[in-house]
Amino acid sequence: MAKNSPSSSLGNMIPSPRQPSSSSENPISKIIPGRPQYKRFGQQGPNGTRSRGGRGPPIFYDKRFQVAGGVVTVGAGGYYVTHLETVPMTGRRRFMDVSIKQEEMMSKEAYNQVMHQYHSKILPQNHAYTQYVKRVARRIIQAAGMQDLDWEFHVIASDEKNAFVLPGGKVFVFTGILPIAENENGLATVLGHEIAHQLARHSAEKLSFTKIALFLGVIVSLVFDPSWSMQRIVMELGMMLPFSRKCETEADQIGLQLMAQACFDPRESTRMWARMHRTESGPSISFLNTHPASKDRATKLEHWMPEAMNTWHTSDCATTNVYADMFNKFRHASW
Ligand SMILES: [Zn+2]
Repeated sequence: MAKNSPSSSLGNMIPSPRQPSSSSENPISKIIPGRPQYKRFGQQGPNGTRSRGGRGPPIFYDKRFQVAGGVVTVGAGGYYVTHLETVPMTGRRRFMDVSIKQEEMMSKEAYNQVMHQYHSKILPQNHAYTQYVKRVARRIIQAAGMQDLDWEFHVIASDEKNAFVLPGGKVFVFTGILPIAENENGLATVLGHEIAHQLARHSAEKLSFTKIALFLGVIVSLVFDPSWSMQRIVMELGMMLPFSRKCETEADQIGLQLMAQACFDPRESTRMWARMHRTESGPSISFLNTHPASKDRATKLEHWMPEAMNTWHTSDCATTNVYADMFNKFRHASW
């Protein structure tokens, strides 16, 4: 959800220790460690007679490359188009090819890792802070109609101004964010954002998107630069970071509606981001960050505020199931 430094990036889908802060940590390198082991078309033949290592014509003049490239492009394009869907509430088109089952498997591993990492700092479930978080979250979950998910809420004793959600509805809130949230409405801003990530299945989308980024990276690498080095930088700055910021913005938008539907005052969201902004030091260079700048987030929230205020005024604060139903419907759509 939030700030721009890795130590306080509230609302990551994956907690900050695993945020990409350098090329060696980026999610792509986790999937393909080191240089990919593919054979470039037209490289040294069996007799060692021909090489395109800089002296021959460019590889895209090679007939075999053109035919193979055409087949791959048509196949990949067809696969991409048949896995497009529209995100309810925001209307954004996206590529999604990760099933709920795969998402569940992914979540177990991440959950065990986080519980192991923070086990000594996680407050007991009957602690006043944990109870507070659960009380606010319960209303938002109810408004979203997502009560059937196996939710867990954990509060971690740490100064970090952060919160994050793991796939499957496992939400972690650091105590450092509580003074910034300041009150129930501020905390609803934080939790609405995290619950929105879950509702929109952003983790599954990120995995799907990473596959596209890898595919394009391999293609570019084949044609232009087999060293893979430029591709990693371009993919990170040009694809993964903008993608991450897009998901964060969408979670802000959906979260604002959820908190309003749950009868939390949506206007507190902009105040909360103003408080967060005051704790930040130094200018933020947004294109290098996984999260939008706090100031930009407040501006966008202001833009969506009229709709949220309308929801707030008309909500009966009871379960509506309207949001979860919308997402469930498109989940079962055939693709
Ligand atoms: Zn977030």
